[in-house]
Amino acid sequence: MHNQSKYALDCLLRPSVTKSIKGGITGVLLLAVMLGSAALARAAVRPMRYDDLNSAPPDSAENYVTAAKWDKNPVTYSIDNCPRSLDCASAKQAVREAVEAWDAVCGLTLNEFTGGGDIAISWERGSHGDGNPFDGPGGILAHAFFPVSWLGDLAGDLHLDDDETWVVTPATVPWQVDLKTTVMHEAGHSLGMDHTSDPTALMWEEYTGIRGLAPDDIAGIQALYGPPTPDEGGPAAATPAPVPPSGQSTGVTATATTALRMRSAPGTSAQQIASIPSQTQLPVLGQNAAGNWLYVIYNGAQGWVAGWYCNIYGSMSNVPVVPDSGIAPANPPGPNPVPTGVTAQATSNIRMRSGPGTEFAQITTVPVNTVVNVLARNSAANWLYVDFNGTKGWVAAWLCTVSGDLNTVPVRDS
Ligand SMILES: [Zn+2]
Ligand SMILES: [Zn+2]
Repeated sequence: MHNQSKYALDCLLRPSVTKSIKGGITGVLLLAVMLGSAALARAAVRPMRYDDLNSAPPDSAENYVTAAKWDKNPVTYSIDNCPRSLDCASAKQAVREAVEAWDAVCGLTLNEFTGGGDIAISWERGSHGDGNPFDGPGGILAHAFFPVSWLGDLAGDLHLDDDETWVVTPATVPWQVDLKTTVMHEAGHSLGMDHTSDPTALMWEEYTGIRGLAPDDIAGIQALYGPPTPDEGGPAAATPAPVPPSGQSTGVTATATTALRMRSAPGTSAQQIASIPSQTQLPVLGQNAAGNWLYVIYNGAQGWVAGWYCNIYGSMSNVPVVPDSGIAPANPPGPNPVPTGVTAQATSNIRMRSGPGTEFAQITTVPVNTVVNVLARNSAANWLYVDFNGTKGWVAAWLCTVSGDLNTVPVRDS
């Protein structure tokens, strides 16, 4: 196995960047810092490379290049240790955000595992057993293995040079390396992306500081795995699959076949609470004794709608009969279930999860460009508790454009 692994590395990771470049960089860099010239320092750092995979062929018809793909879905990843230069929690958060960025834009699902994931992510120094030793500070920052079966357990693995100075905030000196950007680039290799010939893309070979996914990267990953699937039941999906709306629910949903009134009690004479647009999906919390009115949740409010105006997905035998006055919210959503005035707009199709982290189960998908009300946030403000058409859950803040002041939003942690 070891020999086979080494062979794979020799093939996949040609040492096309000479180690002597690194020594040269160091000298120029020192000079640049001594002269206080930011431009010269940038020029000196420019040849930093994420890894030593080959450059893309310059005249490729498409810019992105794909090399391999996972033949299963979902794929797991694990963060198996921590760097010396960063606190562990910050490092792991940056890694999760980097992996989640790919997950959000393609049809492959990436789930975090506690250890030994398909994509095992670790910090290593010097020679570390895979035949491709790291080179100390500067130069090569990381490497990752394509998802090809003959690599065995190494397939997909991602190694970061622990001799680098990794940071999760903007670099203040030229030798600091942005962890999230580097992991996102290497995770591209772990998913089967090769270097692109588009110098504005993340999969460009040179490390130039903080970057995110560019259109070329997204086109490439979608060429491998397709677009994010509407499978998980966002409103765009007209499939009759039941949508699990939120923790407290019965698993049954109703889709309004026309514009509907939500009322305070079952019956057309009861007070109107809200107007519900046609095609809205509504988690069903209960029904009346006759079974012709449904007790649902919409935009955070609970009330009754006429069952005969809805298509019902799931078994009504799972739905309890509730009093006409309704029921208290089954899952009191923490300090403040009321919209705060702060909103978040999804920058891609994003997952709503049951807790603030990628390790929590997915509840539904929030389609790209959807604006949701922010009800709360976690203490780190990197996860937002939002209301999406009455379904409440957590979304990654870094995949949203937030309007308003998150400091005014209540903090909760689950
Ligand atoms: Zn690379
Ligand atoms: Zn390695």
